[in-house]
Amino acid sequence: MMYGKMFETAQNRVQMRIQSREIIRPMDTVCVICAKTGHLYSGVSHSGMFRGQLTVTHAEIEAIQNMRAFREQQVEAVLLINAYNFRAMLPCPQCVSEILKMDDENKNCHIVLENTIVPVMGLDKFIQDSINQSQLASAQMPVGNNTQILHCHPRR
Ligand SMILES: [Zn+2]
Repeated sequence: MMYGKMFETAQNRVQMRIQSREIIRPMDTVCVICAKTGHLYSGVSHSGMFRGQLTVTHAEIEAIQNMRAFREQQVEAVLLINAYNFRAMLPCPQCVSEILKMDDENKNCHIVLENTIVPVMGLDKFIQDSINQSQLASAQMPVGNNTQILHCHPRR
């Protein structure tokens, strides 16, 4: 699996938006899905007013749609990037469940982060472990703690 290629694809997608003079906002995300076949599908988030309400479509959803357009539904790995600071993020539970319900095999896919990959079925454990670690870290070192888990939108 070429994770580097996924980061590169995400980067190109952001570059394209910058070149077309689009404004990249802190909430904007780019998603790259690597299908079982090795094909990469990308998507970007969209926000706009819909019936008087600010509506955000997650980047994962567009990536899924692009994948479906090519009649693919088996996912190998998912990369979600914040287009503003280029940090890897965890997809939200809704987007994860969209990916899972697309194909039974997708329970074996991975979420790609900068330094690690997380099995999709191990996300809850990974989040809990990260919280425990950062609590441990802040207990040992009370100054500045930025081991924060990023989500495609804040958890309620
Ligand atoms: Zn999402």
